[in-house]
Amino acid sequence: MRLELDDVEMVYGGTTALSDVNLDIEDGEFFTLVGPSGCGKTTTLRLVAGFESPTAGSIQFDGREMRGVPPEARGVGVVFQNYALFPHMTVGENVAYGLRFSDPPGGVSHDERVAELLELVGLPDAADRDPTELSGGQQQRIALARALAPGPDLLLLDEPMSALDARLRERLRVTVKEIQSELDITTLYVTHDQEEALAVSDRIAVMSDGRVEQVGTPREVYRSP
Ligand code: ADP
Ligand code: ADP
Repeated sequence: MRLELDDVEMVYGGTTALSDVNLDIEDGEFFTLVGPSGCGKTTTLRLVAGFESPTAGSIQFDGREMRGVPPEARGVGVVFQNYALFPHMTVGENVAYGLRFSDPPGGVSHDERVAELLELVGLPDAADRDPTELSGGQQQRIALARALAPGPDLLLLDEPMSALDARLRERLRVTVKEIQSELDITTLYVTHDQEEALAVSDRIAVMSDGRVEQVGTPREVYRSP
């Protein structure tokens, strides 16, 4: 399923966060927005998630407009920079929360789905644990499991590794990439880290000052000045 942004503009009061953004993301692609802080990456992701509407232009996934309904109810999984796990729920309950709008795919029960996902993210024994006992990297894995629980068609990841140290970042990067390939899920990834973008992406959009400066494969982007 394709994600298409056409002439997207976003203005907040006097600040132009995005202008003339055109992106065409293919089914199953791992697509990354990279650029310095303030260039418009998070704004792009928020618009794709449907949290806000662009002041001009359109965003369509599989031909549908992305606005109005919560992302989980539209087959969109979201993982933010600061893992927002609920501290008063167990890990398993946090993952099951991802199923509040839809039954698990494949006709399995909620408990079976939670177990599948914890296995997938490499924390098979964590269901009864308290999220606050987990490391930052583990918490991000749980946030990923929660986002994947309903079997989304589109995954949005906003700097999911930025709070982690180098070793955990590398391990989570490998996990994310493996899961993305295995599920063949269209993924829009945001990072300010060019090295990370080059390592994980099928294609990259380099952003600067609210605009897309360049789109290409890691090889194409790395080669250019
Ligand atoms: P990035 O994710 O690349 O760091 P953002 O998308 O967060 O960039 O921000 C792009 C620009 O838009 C920045 O100048 C930022 O201050 C501005 N901006 C983002 N969200 C808002 C908002 N809700 N209100 C006002 N300005 C905003
Ligand atoms: P990032 O880490 O991507 O740069 P920020 O920490 O700058 O994002 O922004 C976090 C949140 O604050 C986002 O929801 C963004 O839309 C909002 N935001 C960013 N800049 C502004 C601003 N100047 N005024 C109001 N809200 C903003």
